[in-house]
Amino acid sequence: MSTSAPCPLLINGEWLRPAALTTSPVFNPSTGEVIGAVPLAGATEVDAAVQAAQAAFPAWADTPVVDRTRIMFRYRSLVEKHFDEIARTISREHGKTYAESRGDLFRGIEAIEYACGAPTLMMGDMVTNIARSVDCETTRYPLGVCAGITPFNFPAMIPLWMFPLALVTGNTFVLKPSERVPFTAIRLAELLMEAGLPKGVFNLVQGGKPAVDALLTHPLVKAVSFVGSTPIARYIHQTATAHGKRVQANGGAKNYVFVLPDSDVSKTVEGVMNAAFGCAGERCMAGSSVITVGNRGRHLMGELAAAAKALKVGRTDGEAQPDMGALITAAHRDRVLGLVESGLSAGAKLVADGRGVKVPDAPKGFYLGATVVEDVQPDMALAREEVFGPVLNVLHLDHLEDAIALANKSAYGNGAAIFTNSGKAAREFKHRVQCGMIGINIGVPASLAMFPFSGWNDSFFGDLHIQGKEGVWFYTQQKVTTTRWIAEGVGDVWRK
Ligand code: NAD
Repeated sequence: MSTSAPCPLLINGEWLRPAALTTSPVFNPSTGEVIGAVPLAGATEVDAAVQAAQAAFPAWADTPVVDRTRIMFRYRSLVEKHFDEIARTISREHGKTYAESRGDLFRGIEAIEYACGAPTLMMGDMVTNIARSVDCETTRYPLGVCAGITPFNFPAMIPLWMFPLALVTGNTFVLKPSERVPFTAIRLAELLMEAGLPKGVFNLVQGGKPAVDALLTHPLVKAVSFVGSTPIARYIHQTATAHGKRVQANGGAKNYVFVLPDSDVSKTVEGVMNAAFGCAGERCMAGSSVITVGNRGRHLMGELAAAAKALKVGRTDGEAQPDMGALITAAHRDRVLGLVESGLSAGAKLVADGRGVKVPDAPKGFYLGATVVEDVQPDMALAREEVFGPVLNVLHLDHLEDAIALANKSAYGNGAAIFTNSGKAAREFKHRVQCGMIGINIGVPASLAMFPFSGWNDSFFGDLHIQGKEGVWFYTQQKVTTTRWIAEGVGDVWRK
């Protein structure tokens, strides 16, 4: 990974390094060092990628679905073969631990495996004899050129949510990954070519807003899949639908974790720690707002604070691995710190302080230690805004009713979890909380590849979610064929 040469774009099967493009630095968050330069593509490069995808579309759409799927099976084997190397690339450019990077890639492989079911997933329905001698059936067809725009926090999994399914269903694709994590996407694209994908079927452009805008407005792009923050998701949905495209746009989140007095203490603490501090809190399903219900809440604080203080923070780009890595950039770390400070100055209480954390062998890394803040009030920014960092904020309430009412005031609606041994409380919670993914005694209920990633409210803009059957429906359009072949007479098909 050279730091001097801009990393390449993949257009029509060729790796290009357009010399004239300006670049943006890529950091190793563990050390703060620059490890690469992302070329910022504009309308010209995006047009070349879309034209290549459009030219490749008729032959690819006509390729039998079993042959398209066979390439995806080969792709799966190649990604698995290079698993360790890709996971290390993720840790280096993102900062998450090696174990978390393996999890990121593993969830991506599950999405490839789901896509390998394309011949079954694309099956239509049929009813015979819906009128005398008339049969009716549905068949699914690809859309054409689809685009994917992805965030920094899951460099492998989120692109893999999109293009394997789009490709096996017969579409061609242009991916625009986050400019902060270009290297994982490049490796995933190289392996796709090695798997035997024809030129132009998959294209990769790097860049920021100008590249995104060129995709959203390009007349040949039929559908846009997006994952990122809520303001950008809303913008993507509005702009791309105004240009006639099908859009699925996942946004940000604020996921509440309810802890009831009857929950198992050690399992709850373990679940909350993972929910709040996994991937240093940089997860759209992070459970970083705990609401304790009833009288055991304050008692639990000692255990949570001790567990947070025990988390070791450090470099993730070597062999020795910490419990938690750095945040993506210094600016993002400072934004998270600002939210903590605003909570403290509004009266919240610090019970574990990660602000001054030191990593001696990497003093310039973008670190923030695990931080726990208690007595957060519902109107504080810390309670309302997505923090996206290693900060657990805790509110204490007396009744489940009040906790549900508070969670339902959130503008977001990705996930919510409850820790309890009461089936009645869990059922109440499941049915009344206004969000799309529910965890019961599970802190991070992120859907697997066969289920939709089912955000509600401002966590999702569109109609058909990413993943699962909805993902297949998103990347295909249906045709209904009604056929009449006149039979000889009543009951003819039953006569010997
Ligand atoms: P982001 O919104 O800043 O960027 C996402 C993508 O949009 C990137 O490719 C970026 O280049 C592009 N982009 C950024 N600003 C743009 C603009 N003004 N116009 C057009 N395109 C623009 O998000 P991020 O910081 O990379 O990722 C973190 C966010 O993603 C968090 O809010 C997190 O909750 C969310 N996220 C959501 C899900 C989900 O499924 N709901 C999953 C992962 C992450």
